[in-house]
Amino acid sequence: MFTDLKIDAKTKLYGIFGNPVEHSLSPILHNAVFKHLKMDCVYMAFRVEPDALGLAFEGMRSIGIRGVNVTIPFKEDAVNFVDEIPEDLDRLTGAINTVVQKDGKLFGYNTDGQGFLHALHEELSFKPQGKDVLVIGAGGAARGVVFALAHAGVDQLFIYNRSRERARGLAEYASTYFSETEIVSLGSFGDLPDKKLDLVVNATSCGMTGNQDLPMDWGLIREPKAAYDLVYTPSETLWFKEAKRIGIPCANGLGMLVSQAAISFERWTGKKEGVREAMREALRSCKL
Ligand code: NAP
Repeated sequence: MFTDLKIDAKTKLYGIFGNPVEHSLSPILHNAVFKHLKMDCVYMAFRVEPDALGLAFEGMRSIGIRGVNVTIPFKEDAVNFVDEIPEDLDRLTGAINTVVQKDGKLFGYNTDGQGFLHALHEELSFKPQGKDVLVIGAGGAARGVVFALAHAGVDQLFIYNRSRERARGLAEYASTYFSETEIVSLGSFGDLPDKKLDLVVNATSCGMTGNQDLPMDWGLIREPKAAYDLVYTPSETLWFKEAKRIGIPCANGLGMLVSQAAISFERWTGKKEGVREAMREALRSCKL
């Protein structure tokens, strides 16, 4: 696909730190845009050992990698290795997925939250203001989702996670910043109020290639008005297929993937024009 890439000593390097990382579609998206915009840059995936994230960031500084994305399971830990998180909301979120290197300093951003809201609007015409939402998961991506939803004015936000303590911690932490949104952690799905939720979000890795667990059995809650699955490999998880079968309007994580990637790309390069289109075209041609 990229046989016409000319990599030489001046080529600028970008990449993604994660573990696992082999499932990531980010190299396809970003390399497609570099090619489309004729930029002398390349984007690689780096599998980082669990206790070696600090070393990876030292490497980023020492060999001059211009920008990276950070994915599972490092989004929360990554905040400890950057020099600055310029945006207030990203700092509060406590998880970053994008790092820019400029003048020897590392700047961290969270583009997941914004990308998520953009995808909700584009694919489900969903406006968060005044809505009731259940988020399943309390990892790095869930943090971005929870803070973005609360910041966008959701009325009630319920958080459920396999490790209950983590859900409780996230709910308590987020509640201190958003007094207008009621943020509640659930011990079980039976603790949900008896009403139709506006949206249910899977922000866990359940359903992702290699993880066949379900984030939740649809039989446990009242049918919601819409569902969003952050997972995009495979493009339809069992949970997503079941939501579709029941008739719940739903979208998978591909829209968010493109949106958060386009915002990361702009952070690194300042370029916006034609970026989303080139990324979508790349996804179409890799026939997911
Ligand atoms: P993470 O920080 O490692 O968190 C993983 C989350 O999944 C935790 O809440 C974890 O629960 C839960 N989990 C994992 N395996 C589980 C299982 N078998 N049963 C129940 N819960 C399980 O990962 P992340 O960065 O938040 O990413 C989560 C998912 O979102 C990944 O699939 C990632 O690819 C996807 N994502 C998609 C986009 C997009 O653009 N579409 C962006 C970001 C992330 P515990 O706390 O109990 O371990």
